[in-house]
Amino acid sequence: MKAELIAVGTELLMGQISNTNAQYLSQRLPALGIGVYYHSVVGDNPLRLEESLRTAMERCEIIILTGGLGPTQDDLTKETVAKVLGLNMVYDEISAECIRKYFSCLGKTMVESNLKQAYFPEGSKILYNDEGTAPGCIIETENNTVIMLPGPPREMKPMFEKSVEPYFSDKIGEKLSSAFVKITGMGESSVEDALMPLIDHQTNPTFATYAKTGDVTLRVTASGENREEADSLLNAALEKVKNILGENVYSVSGEELEEVVVKRFIKEGKTLALAESCTGGMLAERLTNVSGASEVLKYGLVTYSNEAKEKLLGVERETLENFGAVSRETALSMCRGLKKLSGASVCVSITGIAGPTGGTPEKPVGLVYIGIASDDSEECIECRFNGNRERIRTLTVINVLGNLLKM
Ligand code: ATP
Repeated sequence: MKAELIAVGTELLMGQISNTNAQYLSQRLPALGIGVYYHSVVGDNPLRLEESLRTAMERCEIIILTGGLGPTQDDLTKETVAKVLGLNMVYDEISAECIRKYFSCLGKTMVESNLKQAYFPEGSKILYNDEGTAPGCIIETENNTVIMLPGPPREMKPMFEKSVEPYFSDKIGEKLSSAFVKITGMGESSVEDALMPLIDHQTNPTFATYAKTGDVTLRVTASGENREEADSLLNAALEKVKNILGENVYSVSGEELEEVVVKRFIKEGKTLALAESCTGGMLAERLTNVSGASEVLKYGLVTYSNEAKEKLLGVERETLENFGAVSRETALSMCRGLKKLSGASVCVSITGIAGPTGGTPEKPVGLVYIGIASDDSEECIECRFNGNRERIRTLTVINVLGNLLKM
């Protein structure tokens, strides 16, 4: 089945917000056997929305609209869909009651215009909204299924997971089981090459890879007549994937690298301290995004200047002068100083040249030294990355996280 996502909202067109709804839906729909073929963005303009909707209905069976379900005059998604499908708008008392309740629970008075949200194109299956006031809805026509969801992601996502996913699972009469395998240390094409014998001509389970800098996600989806059959096909495929990709696989449940690192450290009762130079705190930022990181991260220092490296970490001036700030010797010295200062079980130091300036023939842009010291070992990893400043810094962070998992 082919799907088109239409995000409605002038804010999106003006670049004031990003279309994260499309990103989220595109990641979830393939697991339901639905391929996302088009993303469109339309402002709060009924004529252009009408045009987009007609085009989408010609080229895809499923159309999912997000946004424009609110109470104001420029929220016109449902009205426009009704017009295009030739349907009347009808009042739904249950929705009206939910909206009234939502306001009274918050101790607020509902203005009458909110009841606009209780009108739906005739024949809609209504999706009640536990997180806000705008209900969503689904309309089936002879050739299309049109789904309308609220714009705010914190309302849209639960509605999708509670109502839309079960709707599609029931419809296809089969049970689907999916896993998101997370891989680091390999590029997307190497992952595909390695898995080729497994995925070539394979229809059940299906495989799809998605890549972002330094990180590849492999979605595996199996279908069966019942959940057990789907799960068992999926698990067999996951075992094969893990055998082929080995320790490059760090999660089969879609967890991010930093989440896996934090969980592992908590489980093993280990603590961590960081002294970051060229990444300027990016590693600490990634780790502190994970709930529970406070149990693990003892220190996160940004020691960008030589002065900070000397004063905070005790790096000798001679080391900096003789070998340079970006050197194996400085990275190790930073690490040792950090170990003394923090007493953490694992200490990481990072020093490198992220560019675009500062490179020399001996020490080019992309050269990064990562020091890692634990209670009984110490090593310095030399990395040579290419790309722009952002990419070099991101790859450095991912490399450290990957190495922390191998300890
Ligand atoms: P509401 O009842 O809150 O008005 P709505 O369905 O009418 O909901 P919009 O008014 O279109 O939704 O958008 C409300 C907010 O939701 C936007 O200001 C924005 O913060 C967020 N939002 C809308 N569309 C998207 C999108 N495609 N991706 C990410 N966020 C979005």
